[in-house]
Amino acid sequence: MSNRLTVLAGPTAVGKGTIVAYILEHFPDVKLSVSATTRAPRPGEIDGVSYYFWTHERFDEAIAKGELLEYAVVHGVNKYGTPKAPIEQALAKDELILLEIDLQGARQVKKAMPEARLIFIAPPSWDELVRRLKGRGTESEEEQARRLETARVEMAAASEFDHVVVNDEVARCAAEVVNLMKS
Ligand code: 5GP
Repeated sequence: MSNRLTVLAGPTAVGKGTIVAYILEHFPDVKLSVSATTRAPRPGEIDGVSYYFWTHERFDEAIAKGELLEYAVVHGVNKYGTPKAPIEQALAKDELILLEIDLQGARQVKKAMPEARLIFIAPPSWDELVRRLKGRGTESEEEQARRLETARVEMAAASEFDHVVVNDEVARCAAEVVNLMKS
């Protein structure tokens, strides 16, 4: 029953993290898949909760062993991937599971599990997306430019998704996502 599995993707800084946090707080029947990454933790991020923070060696080992449902190099630097076992366990328990991953990962999940539901989170406008990325202030200018370049490509892929939800207001957007997950 992998239609219990929903992939959320969308350009950088569109507010996916905020929407996911809102969903987890207000809809406790939705479970989030914890990704693995080779990037360093940001202040406040907790290993095993925000991400599994893995070395490149550990990550490559997981790829070799087929332990990842999907993985991708994101923003040209670090690897990010979805551990397969927790997903299989959650689906076996018929839980609603949410993946917050990039476009390349979303495409891989759709290939591996055609019943998976793909939702694209779009910004109200491109200018608003740029404003949000700069306002966040967690990335260097070089990193911001790299992420905006990725975002431009990602925006063009919205039509590949089953649904597009505009993040105009967090609570509204989150409720729309959960309604789609349960439909
Ligand atoms: P950040 O470094 O800001 O936490 O995440 C950067 C990007 O990595 C985001 O676009 C996010 O969607 C993506 N990402 C996070 N986890 C995964 C994953 O498991 N697989 C893939 N393919 N992308 C991921």
